[in-house]
Amino acid sequence: MLIEQQKSLLDYNTFHIDEYARYFTTVQNEKELQLVLESEIAKEQELFILGGGSNVLLTHEVNGLVIRNQMKGIEIIYEDDSIAKVKFQAGESWHHCVLWCVEQNLGGIENLSFIPGTIGAAPIQNIGAYGAELKDVFVELEAMHICLKQRKVFMKNECNFGYRNSIFKTEAKGKYIILSVTLQLSKKPQFNTSYGHIQDELNSMGVTELNLKAVSDAIIRIRQSKLPDPAMIGNAGSFFKNPSVSESEFEILHKKYNDMPFFKNNEAVKIPAAWLIEHCHPDNALSWKGYRELNFGVHIKQALCLVNYSDANGRDILGLSERIITSVQQAFNITLEREVNIW
Ligand code: FAD
Ligand code: NAP
Repeated sequence: MLIEQQKSLLDYNTFHIDEYARYFTTVQNEKELQLVLESEIAKEQELFILGGGSNVLLTHEVNGLVIRNQMKGIEIIYEDDSIAKVKFQAGESWHHCVLWCVEQNLGGIENLSFIPGTIGAAPIQNIGAYGAELKDVFVELEAMHICLKQRKVFMKNECNFGYRNSIFKTEAKGKYIILSVTLQLSKKPQFNTSYGHIQDELNSMGVTELNLKAVSDAIIRIRQSKLPDPAMIGNAGSFFKNPSVSESEFEILHKKYNDMPFFKNNEAVKIPAAWLIEHCHPDNALSWKGYRELNFGVHIKQALCLVNYSDANGRDILGLSERIITSVQQAFNITLEREVNIW
């Protein structure tokens, strides 16, 4: 077990921010994790758990011990004619696990194809895309309480999953290391292709009979055409969550902005944050979409993604996010919430 000092995190976050960790280590299995937790450094320092670094913005040196989770393993722990329960170790790549399920003809997470990061981070914000969320297939997870060094199993009802939210972003924030996640997948998949342009993409691919690989491929193609590739431009996906307002608040907004897109969900109305950001720059001649300051800005195709073009620092990007929040607040009286974890 190697604990490095003053380690640059440049290669460990998809925003490509060059901040240092005071201490840094990678764990490949539970034994290594135990050894790290028993070390003097771990006892003295604040601990930060890192997966693929695709949902963090580093705004200063990380003053503590960063533990990068690389625990690997995939195991079917139960199956019958219609379902399989699969236990994934937390350090597995999420997208690798999606492809593994597609290959095994296990349905349920194909709409979540091509999301960067690890399995262990997926419950933190209940990852979601194209009409699917982790919670739809989630069974349980195993975690280690960082201070008590005790294992705990969290069943679905204990995780308080919400829209890009869970207990691990609220009451239990920073208290646990997630070790494994068990999902229930279907051997008789129900396809969900009604969201956005999935069906159009399948048509243009010439798919006449639906299958898991075709749906996964369609989603990968859509995502590759719309989203900035972190290997080319630093980013952490959507920087903000899509806000929801009450129906009465929405009616007022819609009278004023009748082209504002919306999605009704029970009593609330979800408004795409990207549209709000695009339509609220204080200078009417400008738009936040594509806005650029030297080495950072807002992506040209996707107003929800803040980007690092080269060597920006996290404080500048955080400052830009504050200016955008203020603009949206002033224009629409809606307070955007950040989705990205600020370190
Ligand atoms: P990290 O960034 O390493 O960590 C995120 C948070 O989780 C941190 O607070 C960290 O401390 C904590 N954490 C990580 N691992 C553990 C663990 N084992 N135990 C305890 N805490 C842990 N998200 C979506 O929901 N939907 C999308 O469609 C989507 N698309 C994206 C597209 C792009 C191009 C990018 C860059 C990001 C996208 N994201 C999306 C955001 C991100 O990929 C997900 O939130 C992902 O789950 C983060 O995984 P990670 O391993 O990189 O987490
Ligand atoms: P999009 O399809 O252009 O849609 C814009 C927004 O409208 C989305 O954020 C989505 O909300 C909402 N929306 C669209 N169709 C909907 C429907 N049928 N029902 C309910 N809501 C609908 O969005 P996009 O930016 O290209 O992203 C596509 C999907 O990938 C979205 O689900 C998005 O959340 C996800 N994604 C997430 C991240 C991230 O970092 N979190 C990054 C990239 C993409 P929802 O977000 O609630 O779906």
